[in-house]
Amino acid sequence: MKLKKTLHLAVWIPVLLVSISAISVDRIKMHTESLSAPAREGRRAGSEGAAFAAQYIASQLGEMGFETQMQEFGGNRKNVIAKSGTAERYILLGAHYDGQGRGFPSASDNAAGVAVVLEVARELKAKNLPVSLVVAGFDDEEQGLNGARYYTDHPIYPLQNAAAAIIFDTMGRSFIDLQTFALFVLGTEYSKELAEIVQKRTRPEMVVIGTDLVGPRSDFAPFAVKRVPYLFFSNATHKDYHGEGDTPDKIDYRRLADQTSVIVQIVEDIARSTAPPAFLAQPVYPSAEKATLTRYMTQVEREYKDLPPAYRLMFADLKSRLQTDNSRDALRVATSALLAIATPRFSRFMLSLILAPYFEGLGQPAIAAASYEEAAKWAQEGPTRRELEEKARSLRQ
Ligand SMILES: [Zn+2]
Repeated sequence: MKLKKTLHLAVWIPVLLVSISAISVDRIKMHTESLSAPAREGRRAGSEGAAFAAQYIASQLGEMGFETQMQEFGGNRKNVIAKSGTAERYILLGAHYDGQGRGFPSASDNAAGVAVVLEVARELKAKNLPVSLVVAGFDDEEQGLNGARYYTDHPIYPLQNAAAAIIFDTMGRSFIDLQTFALFVLGTEYSKELAEIVQKRTRPEMVVIGTDLVGPRSDFAPFAVKRVPYLFFSNATHKDYHGEGDTPDKIDYRRLADQTSVIVQIVEDIARSTAPPAFLAQPVYPSAEKATLTRYMTQVEREYKDLPPAYRLMFADLKSRLQTDNSRDALRVATSALLAIATPRFSRFMLSLILAPYFEGLGQPAIAAASYEEAAKWAQEGPTRRELEEKARSLRQ
């Protein structure tokens, strides 16, 4: 018995090590650092830094044996499009490479997303899949998803041959800077087949929710419009999101590489699936949304000892509300509250435009007032701040 157990371990441990170490932490780090180096000046669309990034992506893919081309769409902007394989059906892997411009390294958003795409492409290319691979480095996402939009209007490979589009944005940092390294997965609601595959590979840190809770905020949106089944992967926002502090040294490369290996498995499953994904006319939302969001609210309460009263009140209300309220609204508001905490720079907008009005509408003036007060803390001096404080005051009366 003992011997058998030892043998069993001896056989399995090397296999496990191989599958865990398949994704190179060093290469993900190298790509991220190259793309977010000061010389790239934040890769603003149309800039020299962005042109360098496009060249970098093209040469990496070229070295892997992909056939690579640039798709120009004006103003020195270009998508990098690469293909490997002869099958008509393909899976598209995409991430935007442009950034916020000078002074903003834009490492998690989205140098790291590009790094993940490159390494997923490398892994999958070696697997002899029954489908081709198309890799897209999209330009000019930050000012309106322009590269992906242009591509879906002028696809180099027909969109109807795409089994799925797998899009990556904002990777490698921990959502709300929590201990857990959350991995958001959007898009399963539009494809039964993709939902099943994700479910099979599920992990505790995955946040599988409907796209509507976050909104059409990245390059998956133009694919959704064209009814291409899609999955969107993101480690989501953090305190430096769209800020000067989004630097490559703050990326957790080890955890990112670990999650990348799961993503490779998911994409491989899609490629080998005998039931090609279909785009559902009516979304079927993931069943664990409520449980997942409730778990994250509880985690924030636990980890943030000085969580402002507005959020404590909101979470208490939402956690009990979600038990009975089956509207998308309650889920969307819970997601917005988490996103508001994640990035203080954007808190004011979410608190004053989404969260406070929601609770006001529910007849919860104390929560609405606390939300306006919290929003006022993040407002500049002047009319906006006074306006928010005035709203809070009138609700308190
Ligand atoms: Zn982005």
